[in-house]
Amino acid sequence: MLEVRNIQTYYGNIQALKNVSLTINEGEIVTLIGANGAGKSTTLMSICGVTPPRHGEIVFRGQPIQNLSAEKIVSLGICQVPEGRHIFPQMSVLENLEMGAYMRNDKAAIKSDIDYVFERFPILEQRRQQAGGTLSGGEQQMLAISRALLARPSLLLLDEPSLGLAPLIIKQIFEIVKKINVESNTTVFLVEQNANQALKIAHRGYVMENGAITLEDKAENLLSNEDVKKAYLGM
Ligand code: ATP
Repeated sequence: MLEVRNIQTYYGNIQALKNVSLTINEGEIVTLIGANGAGKSTTLMSICGVTPPRHGEIVFRGQPIQNLSAEKIVSLGICQVPEGRHIFPQMSVLENLEMGAYMRNDKAAIKSDIDYVFERFPILEQRRQQAGGTLSGGEQQMLAISRALLARPSLLLLDEPSLGLAPLIIKQIFEIVKKINVESNTTVFLVEQNANQALKIAHRGYVMENGAITLEDKAENLLSNEDVKKAYLGM
């Protein structure tokens, strides 16, 4: 579905990504783990066109996308939930969800998609008229994921959904990501520092260090890899 080939991304003169290559197959959950500053967010932002790579290629369903605008990339079916969520704080939960569907005009389907996310996240339905900015961190993360789903992405990019959340909420969010992957056939690329939880729901994973991929394997193999355990799983 997506192939990232030898991308190099820079912030001015600073090279953040050094020949990063990875593959995401249709239907998978793939996770990218790594320490602070390894380049995980930059990888996501390179894919969705926010910080385009200076060199290399990104191919989505056969089409090179590395030179397309972020808006065009969204219209192809790639949708990002950025780190920090970025929901609209003054708008209600429902209005935030409607914003997610701004490129669509199939009203009946939008309504049924809103019902779908309310089923998955009942707390959002209870708070449908509440201003987004007054939700808890976990609820805001649920809203950010739901809003992205309203764009009906075929590839959902999640940047550290667990950031700053309590363990129980993290578990709940990851379970729902898994459900969404299965039920709505949404392929997921999950960037996480919480390697343990991310690898538990993923099919495959990549490890990133200093702007380069250092390891890739099935998620279950990474979970039992001694180096990964020591460096990222605190064992
Ligand atoms: P974290 O888990 O802390 O979010 P990360 O793995 O997502 O880290 P990135 O945010 O991609 O890492 O950062 C990779 C490198 O690029 C870091 O050295 C960072 O300081 C640098 N960087 C990121 N954003 C910018 C920016 N806007 N300007 C300059 N350098 C940046």
